[in-house]
Amino acid sequence: MRPQVIIIGRPNVGKSTLFNRLVGKKLALVDDQPGVTRDRRFGDASLLGLEFTIVDTAGWEDEDPSSLPGRMRMQTEASLEGADVALFVIDARAGLTPLDEEIGRYLRGHDIPVILLANKAEGRAGDHGLFEAFSLGFGEPVGVSAEHGEGMGDLFEALLPHIGEKQDDEDEASDEEAEYDPKAVLKLAIVGRPNAGKSTLINRFLGEDRLLTGPEAGITRDSIAIDWSWTDPKDGEARPIRLIDTAGMRKKAQVVDKLEKLSVADARRAIDFAEVVVLLLDATRGLEHQDLKIASMVLEEGRALIIAINKWDVAEDASGLFNGVRQALDDGLAQVRGVPLVAVSARTGKGLDTLLSAAFTLRDAWSRRVPTAALNRWFDDALAANPPPAPGGRRIKLRYITQAKTRPPGFVLFGTRLDQLPESYRRYLVNGIRRELGFDAVPIRLTLRSPK
Ligand code: GDP
Ligand code: GDP
Repeated sequence: MRPQVIIIGRPNVGKSTLFNRLVGKKLALVDDQPGVTRDRRFGDASLLGLEFTIVDTAGWEDEDPSSLPGRMRMQTEASLEGADVALFVIDARAGLTPLDEEIGRYLRGHDIPVILLANKAEGRAGDHGLFEAFSLGFGEPVGVSAEHGEGMGDLFEALLPHIGEKQDDEDEASDEEAEYDPKAVLKLAIVGRPNAGKSTLINRFLGEDRLLTGPEAGITRDSIAIDWSWTDPKDGEARPIRLIDTAGMRKKAQVVDKLEKLSVADARRAIDFAEVVVLLLDATRGLEHQDLKIASMVLEEGRALIIAINKWDVAEDASGLFNGVRQALDDGLAQVRGVPLVAVSARTGKGLDTLLSAAFTLRDAWSRRVPTAALNRWFDDALAANPPPAPGGRRIKLRYITQAKTRPPGFVLFGTRLDQLPESYRRYLVNGIRRELGFDAVPIRLTLRSPK
């Protein structure tokens, strides 16, 4: 049995547009003119793997908007009978009208869960109406744009507690989200402290002395994107890479401590562009405080991170150095353990294929989507192996988990009393997801949601 979701709202708020988006076909009539009469329509809807029947109710279009016509009321009554949840749509741009309030009162008189949707909220255009909509008394409105497809992840999260249990077991990843193409150009940034060897590495990749390098810290360069293609020695395939070199904007004259700050600013800019960020260390200096700061920032921003220890050709006590850096990373990076660590030499070329191969692998993990069914199988096992605690004698109830997004992977956990979930338990879940569901060392976000 597919769950039923009913759309309710006054004319012209975007009900048909929403219906079309959820059904994925240009079925319904969309019109600027209020009062285009429609019958009650049913459609098979799919949203990020949630499958349900959507019902669009016509009939609030009355000559006298302050009264509810009997015909409509009967139709809507009938729809409400069979529905699991109602989507009450308002126009966030127009703000609340008396008819919205009337519909709100009508819905409160029924025993059906209501999700308040503030539509036409693309950009920030609907902020005003969004806040106003709180006054309807249905909790926090979900801002969406039916026309532009924005907010569909939030709508999904709002629907899940009401209809998630009625799903068939094997739901697939949705087609709402663009398919991940592992062959697409990899956006890669190289960051690191001055003199770590970033320019030398980029030159090495490109096989030509395109960038200036020198022994003094902070040679002047500009921030640029460079497209090139790496030949993977494993299969001889050419893999496109866009290198983002944001190490620029340095002046030789600038003093070193200013450069330290600049390397953080560089990293910040690189992070905006990149899928995978390589943090380059200098083997002759080891892991320094500034490096950890940059690494943390990369993970904080949800990017996939690889650490490369450069100048391996001149490293002393190579294995001691490697293990020392490994340990310092695991101690110093709270977010992720086991960040990939690769020894390289930009000068000799050692380790560079390993580095790039790791970058592609990590992007795959970063882009990965686990089907809801598999995720919840893991979830049930994880809870059975280690049940959530019961602070004050009352157990925290964890109901389901869903992957709301990829790149970086984001999960939403539904349950009750989640504000009391200890940080250690959250870490237990995050580490489990990472280890057992193939997310390796990518940063993972876990959001907690209690249904209202
Ligand atoms: P209904 O009467 O509630 O079914 O509303 P429609 O779906 O027919 O939409 C009414 C008008 O609002 C149409 O002109 C739509 O193009 C427009 N509309 C629908 N959704 C959005 C949206 O998310 N943003 C904006 N700006 N316009 C929208
Ligand atoms: P950037 O400031 O991070 O761009 O660093 P550069 O690429 O300008 O390199 C700084 C210095 O380190 C230069 O003198 C390079 O020749 C040297 N260097 C870079 N990579 C290596 C390497 O793999 N081995 C050795 N021995 N020196 C390197």
